[in-house]
Amino acid sequence: MRILVQKFGGTSVADLECQKRVREKVLAALNHGYKVVVVLSARAGETNRLLALAEEWSKTPDLAERDSLVSIGEQVSITLFAMLLKDAGVKARSVLAFQIPLVTGNEYGEARIQSINSDWLHAELEKYEVLVVAGFQGITDDGKITTLGRGGSDTSAVALAAVLHAEQCEIYTDVDGVYTTDPRVCSQARKMRTIAYDEMLEMSSMGAKVLHIRSVEFAKKYKVPVHVRSTFTDDPGTVVTQEDSSMEAVLVSGIAYDRDQARVTMRGVPDQPGVAAAIFGPLSEGGVLVDMIVQNTSRDGITDMTFTVSRKDLAKTLEIMQKVSDGINAREVIHDTNVAKVSAIGVGMRNHSGVAARAFAALQKENINIMMISTSEIKIGILIEEKYVELAVRILHEAFGLDWDMGD
Ligand code: ADP
Ligand code: ASP
Ligand code: MG
Repeated sequence: MRILVQKFGGTSVADLECQKRVREKVLAALNHGYKVVVVLSARAGETNRLLALAEEWSKTPDLAERDSLVSIGEQVSITLFAMLLKDAGVKARSVLAFQIPLVTGNEYGEARIQSINSDWLHAELEKYEVLVVAGFQGITDDGKITTLGRGGSDTSAVALAAVLHAEQCEIYTDVDGVYTTDPRVCSQARKMRTIAYDEMLEMSSMGAKVLHIRSVEFAKKYKVPVHVRSTFTDDPGTVVTQEDSSMEAVLVSGIAYDRDQARVTMRGVPDQPGVAAAIFGPLSEGGVLVDMIVQNTSRDGITDMTFTVSRKDLAKTLEIMQKVSDGINAREVIHDTNVAKVSAIGVGMRNHSGVAARAFAALQKENINIMMISTSEIKIGILIEEKYVELAVRILHEAFGLDWDMGD
């Protein structure tokens, strides 16, 4: 059995016209002899609408109930789309995560996939030509509905492709591939024919929302070829795949940005062993992911500790930090949400030096102040004032020779 997974995002399933276009893509795959697993997102704006409802009803919505609520956006999409397929004479059915089941942990709002019953899916694929599966959702061992995090339908699709040994996972979206940076921010962005799993991982983790980070982790681990392409054209898109030697020749292959950043500083911290653990231990126990960290040089045994977190974790972070601050007798905890992170990514950085210096020089020319820096083998991330983020993306894109009229 040749299986193809096709995932369509929110704008691709927004209305009847769009869904008819999606049906054409599915019919084309059937004509090529595939059994098709279609994974759908909620219609554009629907997940936000449901999340806003939860906020309206409760200041601190129960997380399990909120997941059960927001998961219904995908149910609407798959049932409507299955009707369209059946109208065209296709043997199809809609499938919710609990029916498979696609089992996750109980990290509501960010649940991780633990197992998928592929036997059940294979049996259904014997009976049907197309299974239309709800993205984004899962079920815990004890029967509670979960969601996989914003953008999580990509992860549902790649995970299904992995367990079903699908030939490919096609991610259809509103851009026609992965670009050197967000084409909506930089008109000079160029479409990439291929991108290495590791580069895509960094692009996603640094904020490029074209693919959900965990979908790339799955793709890399199970070697699923992922093809990002447009619902609205037939052009080939970008294939996410293993690294090849030509990729190393390029110093920087992409620029990403992330506005979902908040900076927190604990001031007047005693500079002694155990203090970092006292601060970051409780945050990790509270499920808060810390990104960049800087400790200032100390003066008279007193220092400042600054770090960044996602804005959605800020309230929780401040609550935890206040307790820690009281415990270790720090002076105060301050925060700033007026920040964003811009990053340059490229496997070629492994073998070259001077990338950071070139980035700093380019930003300095525009008088953009650098607040924090983080580096890894294949990326450099820079925290700046939020109002400069789009300008910084364009500057770095140009500085690393990515503008389309400078490259191939
Ligand atoms: P979907 O609803 O189909 O999942 P998303 O909005 O999640 O679509 O992701 C697609 C969007 O990702 C694009 O509209 C684009 O603005 C943004 N994006 C950010 N960085 C990139 C990039 N490097 N290449 C392509 N698109 C990008
Ligand atoms: N509907 C979910 C969201 O808006 C999941 C997705 O679209 O991938 O985040
Ligand atoms: Mg998405």
